[in-house]
Amino acid sequence: MRTRGAWGGRRVARCLPPWTAVHRSAGSTPAPRPELPTPAPTADANANLLPFLHEHFSLDGFRAGQEETIRAVLGGSDALVVLPTGAGKSLIYQLPALLLPGLTVVVSPLIALMKDQTDKLDELGVDAWTINSAQSAREQREAEQAVMGGEGKILYVTPERFRDRDFFEVLLDREVSLFVVDEAHCVSQWGHDFRPDYMMLGGIAERLGRPPVLALTATASPQVRDDVTHQLRMRDPFTWVGELIRPNLFLEVQPTVNESQKDAALEQVLRKAEGTGIVYVATVKEAERIHQEFGRRHRLALYHGKLGAKERHEAQDRFMAGEVKAVVATNAFGLGIDKPDIRFIVHYHFPGSMESYYQEAARAGRDGEPSRCVVLYREEDRGVQGYFLGGKYPDLDEAIATARIVNRMPLTEKRPLDEIADMAEVPRRKARIVLTLLKRHGMVREHRGGLWERLAPDVAAADLSRELQDYETRRTQDRVKLEEMVRYCRTARCRTRLILAYFGEEHDEAWTCGHCDNCVAPRVEGMTAAAEAPAIAAESFAPVPSADGDALSAGDEVAHGTFGEGLVLAVVGDKAEVDFEGHGTRMIRLDFLSRIE
Ligand SMILES: [Zn+2]
Repeated sequence: MRTRGAWGGRRVARCLPPWTAVHRSAGSTPAPRPELPTPAPTADANANLLPFLHEHFSLDGFRAGQEETIRAVLGGSDALVVLPTGAGKSLIYQLPALLLPGLTVVVSPLIALMKDQTDKLDELGVDAWTINSAQSAREQREAEQAVMGGEGKILYVTPERFRDRDFFEVLLDREVSLFVVDEAHCVSQWGHDFRPDYMMLGGIAERLGRPPVLALTATASPQVRDDVTHQLRMRDPFTWVGELIRPNLFLEVQPTVNESQKDAALEQVLRKAEGTGIVYVATVKEAERIHQEFGRRHRLALYHGKLGAKERHEAQDRFMAGEVKAVVATNAFGLGIDKPDIRFIVHYHFPGSMESYYQEAARAGRDGEPSRCVVLYREEDRGVQGYFLGGKYPDLDEAIATARIVNRMPLTEKRPLDEIADMAEVPRRKARIVLTLLKRHGMVREHRGGLWERLAPDVAAADLSRELQDYETRRTQDRVKLEEMVRYCRTARCRTRLILAYFGEEHDEAWTCGHCDNCVAPRVEGMTAAAEAPAIAAESFAPVPSADGDALSAGDEVAHGTFGEGLVLAVVGDKAEVDFEGHGTRMIRLDFLSRIE
């Protein structure tokens, strides 16, 4: 039953929550702004779509957000949709694709995702194609020829495909009725999966005759949404933001003070949790260590970017088949994983932002069944993430170094990215971003196979200061995001409320979700079943004689029988919010605390 599925029942989707009002006035399905060129005539946006839905997709009804967006798109509007994975985003373009006269181009970040989609569409009898680098040259040519000959209602491509001029020529010969950007947060340089080629998509849509642009993503903060709208040059998009929070996900954080305590906590989760899950770790090295050590007692798979394609496929297959207790993985694992019954997600290291965290955690329990999302928090892990922050964007020196090397290239020669990066002594990823910026300024041209050609006499004359300043801002922003993530781990209040606030939905102080550790068992009790840190024995939890009657206040140092020494952050009624070294912030009854003089 796909019409209800994981997302039926309890979810209440809202059209245009208050914060989307920045994009457009709340309420109705939009009409194109009058000053813009009228879009090509499209299918009737008012038609009854249900019979069509049933006939082509064997579904009996729409899920929240689907029909509203489909009508907006059929009416010629741009649309931005934020819906969790599994909530039916694909249908939002697949159905219009069948009704619209021309081709629907879907830009997707991963070849594996496209393959999944085209396979499913094949089963439904929908004429869908993909052109990608995993195909042989002959297959690619055949696909191009078919598309050129007018075949195909839907065409899946990666953003990198648009670098290929022959391919672009093919597209220019076709009427493109809808331009879809899947995983659209990759467009945003504020997003955690930023892909430089996504930056070009706004311009590409325009060269394709500017059909309606539909951006789809699973997670996007208001800032990322604004950036997506801006980067894709969307015009007053219809915006739909689905319900973020799912009550079947139990959110918890287990504070740990050292690696052995953390390992013990992981051991508990692996023993207790039902079904299959994912253990996310920050580095390849740690993934390998955990896989090896815990692999002695549990059936585990290992997945990270440094494994060969074959090993990764094997790990994924075993995971999908439920043959393993868990896959130990870096964040390379997960995008496009469509396994509805993932029962637990453990973050052995917390990720660098709430976006990353929630995107990864929400892979659990898509079938609507109870699932656990556990962070094993350790203060020192902040350093692990801080390390990554330095490495994402080029700074001025790196931009200059790259530009200098490009300037030395003879005008007609093409040079590979690797060589440019090596000579500039700039990491490949950063050199690629600099080259992409230069490309936007018309200073260089990119050719097949990662080859670059200098076009301008003096590349160093390009003024990249604005972009580089952007990167500086972004670095600062990344640090802020990391702090938000730490806050999530340390809070003694409802975790869901904090996630909602982060994504722009405010609730008052009294609001609680009822499905996080802090709601179910306030930390004053310390030892909730869920938050139990094994190294802290429950027996050791005994009341400490209360202090001499002096009222505690913020700034006082206190001791607690289980959590040791801490700092009072605030006193609320008969409880204090105390920050304990290694145990996070907890609400503790005053008579369980003694003042340290
Ligand atoms: Zn809660």
